[in-house]
Amino acid sequence: MESDTILKIALAGPLRGYFDYLPPEHDGITLTPGCRFEIPFGRSSRVGILISTSSKSSVPTSKLKRALSQLDHTPLLQPSDLRLLKWAADYYEHPLGDVIFHALPLNLRKKPTATKTSQPGLRLTQAPKQRSVIVALQQHPQGLLAKSQLMQKHELSPAVLRSLLDKGLITPCELPPQPLTREAAHQLNPQQQLAVDTVRKELDGFQAYLLNGVTGSGKTEVYLHLVADVLAQGRQALILVPEIGLTPQLLQRFQQRMGHEVAVLHSGLADGEREKVWHAIRQMRQRVLIGTRSAVFTPMPHLGLIIVDEEHDLSYKQQEGFRYHARDISLVRAQQTGCPVVLGSATPSLESLRNVQESRYRQLDLPQRAANASMPSLSLIDIRNGHLKGGLSPALLKHLEQTLQAGEQAMLFLNRRGYAPMLTCHACGWLTDCPRCDARMTHHRQQRLLWCHHCGHQQRVPAVCPSCGSPDLVPVGQGTERVEEVLQQHFPNSPLARIDRDSTSRKGSLEKLLKQVHSGSIPLLIGTQMIAKGHHFPAVTLVAILDVDQGLFGADFRASERMAQLILQVAGRAGRAERPGRVMIQTRHPDHPLMQLLTQQGYAAFAKLAMQERQMAMLPPYAHQALIRAEANRADYPDLFLKQLLEGCQHIQHAAELEFWGPVPAPMERRAGKTRAHLLIQSNQRLPLHRWLSQAIEIFPTLPHARKVRWSVDVDPQEML
Ligand code: ADP
Ligand code: ZN
Ligand code: ZN
Repeated sequence: MESDTILKIALAGPLRGYFDYLPPEHDGITLTPGCRFEIPFGRSSRVGILISTSSKSSVPTSKLKRALSQLDHTPLLQPSDLRLLKWAADYYEHPLGDVIFHALPLNLRKKPTATKTSQPGLRLTQAPKQRSVIVALQQHPQGLLAKSQLMQKHELSPAVLRSLLDKGLITPCELPPQPLTREAAHQLNPQQQLAVDTVRKELDGFQAYLLNGVTGSGKTEVYLHLVADVLAQGRQALILVPEIGLTPQLLQRFQQRMGHEVAVLHSGLADGEREKVWHAIRQMRQRVLIGTRSAVFTPMPHLGLIIVDEEHDLSYKQQEGFRYHARDISLVRAQQTGCPVVLGSATPSLESLRNVQESRYRQLDLPQRAANASMPSLSLIDIRNGHLKGGLSPALLKHLEQTLQAGEQAMLFLNRRGYAPMLTCHACGWLTDCPRCDARMTHHRQQRLLWCHHCGHQQRVPAVCPSCGSPDLVPVGQGTERVEEVLQQHFPNSPLARIDRDSTSRKGSLEKLLKQVHSGSIPLLIGTQMIAKGHHFPAVTLVAILDVDQGLFGADFRASERMAQLILQVAGRAGRAERPGRVMIQTRHPDHPLMQLLTQQGYAAFAKLAMQERQMAMLPPYAHQALIRAEANRADYPDLFLKQLLEGCQHIQHAAELEFWGPVPAPMERRAGKTRAHLLIQSNQRLPLHRWLSQAIEIFPTLPHARKVRWSVDVDPQEML
């Protein structure tokens, strides 16, 4: 047998390790890692990706099967891409094949549908320059581009254009003038300038920065300048955002400044569209990629800068399957690439603040709002004794009235959609318990539904109590739908918009609502966290936060951090233009020290105290965790499995350096009909935890109940759900 002709292939799915195959029998096979092969597997065939070649196999050569065909002749993934994916697979203890296929557009994860038999074809013969002109024009929506832009971008000579004109392939036309909304680059203020200069000085090597800038301080402007620098060097930039739809303005600004260089990747795109964008970036046809979580894996051959906007945002963490944190991956990617990474936030995660303390990140501050806007004032409304009207205190109603009278906009925030979180029977106390979860079904009045937000279970609202037959069913608590109703009654002459997942489920409806709010034609706005993020509503002067108290006493140790981040994020929507903004927070705990610190001294003071609490309790970021979850239809299996795991993995090296908490029932023990249990593993040091985990994970599948439960490992869990 020749050396190095055994293919080590990774497959999508839960299978760990590589599978060995012999190369296909055709000619012209190139054994470059990163190419896909179709391979026989069981009775069918599957798509796998070549990781490496070797002369050795644990399977006798006579038993090795041959791959059926090679699907790519140039690798889809470069060694640097594979290196990042391998790191992620190791770190998160997730099968490499699954990690790799997660990073590929859906269309490339499966076999090509076209049949492979050859037939006569035709291809373009134009010189590459001419072809690039046609491709560029085709990619543009109306098939037209400014002549100067085209010539500059593709370094065209007049002769190239002339020959295309002669062939009748292009034709001159008049372009409309550039739209006036096009935003010019701002003259940076001194803090912005300092931030840009600091990063700019070291664009050629790895360094992590925390851009700690209050909402509206011009972080985006800093990103734009840095990205422009990187483009000028001929390199690419990756910008991660939590959710595209919720941060339309960031996207618009990049598109306005960098035009056709900007590509966008997010889950809302059709598969074909995603694949197109993926290739365009991989082949350097576009150089700025703005994307959500999974965009962090997109191959970028000349990556020169990574930006993670709103780095504290929970949506960077994938909570199922391959449980990774895109911010943390972006750090490793920058390190492997040798380029800077800038994490931006007005409310940095305690993890990132700790990294600054430890001098792993360099902090850049933007303490003031850019332009003329000042920071909004925060105040608490004590609702312990007051009589609430549909969740609104008399004091708040008064402020709303004043705001509306002054012709300004007010925004109310309540992170609960639906009409009420539950219904109850006045006669017997019956509650709308979900039949499949330890949770209540939310009352959605317009849809006449009881709807469990945890498992999706829906049923009609009963006319009478299913338990005692009384017709006296009453809603308890409020959701956005109910607040909308109360506001309408109270301010019948003020147009009102509700923005939540229910009111924006139709395509385009969110954009439409946002546009109206933005134009100022709707003075009152009630919404969930969909309105909390990057929006810039210039006329909003009053922001009210109706209910955040669960953040002070949540079961999760991160609850207060998330509450503070949410409050400031929402507050950041107030007074973004000339008129100053006010933020009112309704609370039953106005004296709580964290609440006091946050409202009186701001996030930095809050974070300092929260960090001290974490340190005393030895919780992240002062400790490292992995959470093992198990669930099953039978109530006793998850606990049993985790006990077996605890027992079976005790002897593994480093176990003595770890703390094992559990097994315990999950905070919501029953969800979607399954019983769930947790085992939390914690260590002061990262290394022993990972060493132990990488060995223990080999044992999990061999435990007696491994096949009777669904288990998963979550490294650096963000939620204990
Ligand atoms: P952030 O990303 O920190 O929320 P933005 O970059 O969106 O802040 O800036 C907030 C507003 O201030 C935007 O309308 C932006 O156009 C404006 N702005 C940013 N930098 C400057 C500057 N140096 N001079 C004037 N206006 C600026
Ligand atoms: Zn009843
Ligand atoms: Zn449910």
